[in-house]
Parts: sequence; structure tokens; C-alpha cells
Amino acid sequence: MIQNPIPWPNGARCACAVTFDMDADSLIHISRPVDGHDRLYPITMGKYGPTVAIPRILETYRRLGIKQSFFIPAWCIEQYPQAIDAILEGGHEIGHHGYLHEDPTEHSGAEQKYWFDRAFEVHKKATGKPPRGYRGPVYNVNQTVIDLLIENAFVYDSSLMADDIPYVMQTPAGALYEMPVHWGTDDWPPFAHYAEIGYMMPVRGPSDGLRAFFEEFEAHYEAGGFWMPIVHPFLTGRLARWRQMEKFLEEVMNTKDVWFAPLEEIAAHIKSVTDDGSYTPRVEHLPYYEGPVLQR
Ligand SMILES: [Zn+2]
Repeated sequence: MIQNPIPWPNGARCACAVTFDMDADSLIHISRPVDGHDRLYPITMGKYGPTVAIPRILETYRRLGIKQSFFIPAWCIEQYPQAIDAILEGGHEIGHHGYLHEDPTEHSGAEQKYWFDRAFEVHKKATGKPPRGYRGPVYNVNQTVIDLLIENAFVYDSSLMADDIPYVMQTPAGALYEMPVHWGTDDWPPFAHYAEIGYMMPVRGPSDGLRAFFEEFEAHYEAGGFWMPIVHPFLTGRLARWRQMEKFLEEVMNTKDVWFAPLEEIAAHIKSVTDDGSYTPRVEHLPYYEGPVLQR
């Protein structure tokens, strides 16, 4: 059970958002800055996302009549304008996901701000509006990131894990929603095999890997929760995997009371039921610690 389930629109039992992180080949360039540009296998593995998988995924969403959220490093927005145009034409949301998938926790505050702002400008230019949602590359968010999000009027983050359902993160400077992730609904563990960046996962069969996501859905549906796979075009958008995912989405939409929406719309709904007094979200207060937790 979930202690305080959110009342979803039209009596839906579960809010659903399939969120794609379109990292493309940013991963090899950031991890191998000297020779990544000449490593053709990982470049092609990543490029498959915007060029082959994204059109396939968008066609499914068009057919099912749903709009979803994509998180895209700004360098990928500049590099793959056709994919970006297609995502925007479909009415989907694009969230901030760093500039070149840099890990914020590996940079100083000033460097973090530089890359954050640079990516923010690329988003505004490409989409015509500032991004409202953020997902940290590899979920690596620190307090500096949260502060930057609040300073730039972001509505939500989607990188952290303190609950099953969306909650509020309150800091002295302001607040934003957390649309929580977890590794059980991420396609990296079952499907990523990427020695160059240190991942050597045993690749699972499509139905085997995706079954974990479907079981997560069942639990959330029963509890009135929030089902949010965190998936990647170059992994879950591959032919056999997407075939299974597409069948699952179709079946769920035909047989269950579900609400598929982009994360910004889900956050707006939570705000509206909070504002009208029909719901009180759980609040996490940040920063968690003022400094290192010493141990003797
Ligand atoms: Zn990513």
C-alpha cells in the first residue's frame, strides 16, 4: 500500500509516464574525451536512438494518442535536430539532462552552473520555452543542482528515490516536485552492455528484462501509484524490446484505468489538487546534511 495516494484525474488508478533519456552518443564523448569521436561502435550504438528508435517510439505514441517526456542532453539537441523536431511535433515534453551528459557531482559549483546554463539556453532556443523538468545524468544530483533548479523556476526533478510517488522537496530557497526514479524501472541494468563506460551487464531477453517493469506496474496499479519507466531509445527502442513494450502499453490502455501524461502535466495536476485542498503531498526537507557525516 501507499500511505497517501494521489487522486488522479477522472478516477484513474495509476499515473503512467514512459520517460526516455535520449543520450545518443554523448556517453562515449564524455567518458572518452580524447578518442571517443573515433570509436565507431559506441557512436553507432548511441546514434541508433535518435535516428532509428525515436521515429519508432513516436509512431507508437501517435497511434496510442499519448504524450510523454524525453530528457535530452543539450549537445544531442544540437546534434540531432530532426529527432527533436519530431518529438516536439508530437507534442511531447523535453526536459533538461545536462549538456554532454556530464556528471554534476564531478564538477565544482561554478563549472556546474556553466554547463547547466549553457544547456538551458540550448533548450530555450530549440523548444521556444525554458525546460520545466530535469533529470540528472546517471541520477547524480547534489544540492547545487537542486538550488539551480529552484533558481531557474523548474517545476520538478526526476532523479531521486525517497518515495514511490511524487513528493515535494523543500529547501530554504523554495520548493519543487520530485518525480521519483528507481533502478527497478530503469533499462540500464537489464539491457546495457557498454564496456567503454564500465557497464558489462548480462543482456536479458526482451520479455525477461521488461517483465520487471510490468510487475512494477501491477504493484502501482493496485496501490493507486505512479508508474514511470526510465528508458533509453538505444536500449528499449530496439526492435524486439519495443515490440513487447508497445503491446504492453496497448493492453494497459485498453483494459485499465490509467492516465498517461508527460511529467510536467502530472506535476501540474498534483499542484492543483494540493492548491484546492484535496491532497497533501509528503515533504522532504533539503539539504539533508550540512557537511560530511563523520565516523569514528
Ligand atoms: Zn542519460
